[in-house]
Amino acid sequence: MRLILLGPPGAGKGTQAQRLVEKHGIPQLSTGDMLRAAVQAGTEVGKRAKAVMDAGELVSDAIVNAIVAERIDQADCAKGFILDGYPRTLVQADAVESMLSERGIGLDTVIELVVDDRALVGRIVKRAEDAKAAGQPVRKDDNPAVFEERLREYYKKTAPLTGYYYAKGKLKTVDGMASMDAVTAEIETVLAAAAKAR
Ligand code: AMP
Repeated sequence: MRLILLGPPGAGKGTQAQRLVEKHGIPQLSTGDMLRAAVQAGTEVGKRAKAVMDAGELVSDAIVNAIVAERIDQADCAKGFILDGYPRTLVQADAVESMLSERGIGLDTVIELVVDDRALVGRIVKRAEDAKAAGQPVRKDDNPAVFEERLREYYKKTAPLTGYYYAKGKLKTVDGMASMDAVTAEIETVLAAAAKAR
């Protein structure tokens, strides 16, 4: 199963992706996580990405496309994967198409978590508080000022992907404002329908 989770920052993509990993035994490919790991490790990519990420802007398409292309060739992706936070631009969406068709594989479905923007800042603030309380590092971009820029980037560059995937007949929407368990259940219903349609 190859799946894309779409939705603005704070929509719950990461949480739902983790649940899908447990249930379906396929990896979560989060470009945000991969970039943070690169920043942490001080690699060349990390050095180039850090300031852009801290400002809430998008890292270049070339960088993220290269990271994902390399990652999907790893053995654990053979049975499928969940793309979380990627693609985020139309250029990246086209890159996914090429990457998959070059490997003779396709995309099963794209699930958009639909949320109310006004709730998102609150979720981000809570995520930062929860991380702090758990003694985990707090993301530098999880604060209201940077969050606004991340949301702007989302509407400018990522939201058009819903039309892109709708036109391809791949887009399914899920109510991201429901409880976490209800969102998980709705995603599973969508996936079951997609599997039946295959
Ligand atoms: P995330 O953890 O998905 O919220 O991503 C955190 C930050 O990493 C974003 O605000 C961007 O700066 C960068 N990033 C993650 N994924 C991408 C992507 N697909 N394209 C460009 N930048 C990305």
